[in-house]
Amino acid sequence: MIFKFRRERVIFRAFFIGVLISATCMSSAAFAVIKVVTTTTDLKSFVEYVGGDKVQAISMVLPGAEAEDYAPKPQDLDRLKTANLVVRVGLDYDLWLDRILRQTGRPELVKGGAAYVDASNAIVLLEVKGGGIGGGGHAHGAGNPHYWLDPNNAAVITGNIVEALARIDVPNAKYYEKQRIDFLASLDRKTLEWQEKLEPLRGKPLLTYHNNWPYLARRFRLNFAGTVESRPGVSPSAAELSRLLTKMGSEKIHVIVKRPQEPNREVNFLVKKLGAQIAVLSTSVGDDGAKSYIQMMDNNIKNLLAAFNKNSK
Ligand SMILES: [Zn+2]
Repeated sequence: MIFKFRRERVIFRAFFIGVLISATCMSSAAFAVIKVVTTTTDLKSFVEYVGGDKVQAISMVLPGAEAEDYAPKPQDLDRLKTANLVVRVGLDYDLWLDRILRQTGRPELVKGGAAYVDASNAIVLLEVKGGGIGGGGHAHGAGNPHYWLDPNNAAVITGNIVEALARIDVPNAKYYEKQRIDFLASLDRKTLEWQEKLEPLRGKPLLTYHNNWPYLARRFRLNFAGTVESRPGVSPSAAELSRLLTKMGSEKIHVIVKRPQEPNREVNFLVKKLGAQIAVLSTSVGDDGAKSYIQMMDNNIKNLLAAFNKNSK
């Protein structure tokens, strides 16, 4: 009797260990490639730089779409249900993510969870006004959310991503850190090159359709003198347009920056009246066909310089 009891216990223990081993094998098999869902294509690009061939990243917002007003689709929920990691811009930028994260029913994917990354964590924010969403459009109340457009912020963003990747994929932690160091070194070289190229633009005033550029402006000492939008997400009235015309004339503003997906009507009106130039710049990788963050920034710098050069001819 005692013997039988012991034998059953041994069998049970063997069974339990077997279950543990197969569970471990399953999780390492599932992690053969780390599936990362990002809200934007920029974050996807950062994940690819540091994750290399160990990750497969998908952006919910596709190139050319408006990330700040995105409405999640059924396939986003499916992807999140099987994702190993979710990476967001944070602040007021991708507030639409919270609801769909709760819908997954996965506690690790919500704020504070092991598979959740807010890339804005530890970023030194500009234009913090408080108040969050209010009025029309999307406010930038929690701080201007376009922080990835300062290449120096890539160190913090990729730091947040690598910390999470190393947490969920311990065997490859060193790999991710090495990838990050290599990426930041090449980005530093590019940043110096961009700084040199933009030097002649220092102090020259320009307008932007949406307030996308304070981080870029701080890094490269660009002088954005105002926005075409009356406030984030709200197009200007006729009276505001005529005030902008006066401002452009008196402050000698000859270039307006807009993204490919922003409305053309008001910007075209302003440049035609004054013979000014439009510089089409992207805030998200792929809006202009770029495949990576560095390529997008390269295109942005090139297009900005071209608009100023055209104007001086
Ligand atoms: Zn914005």
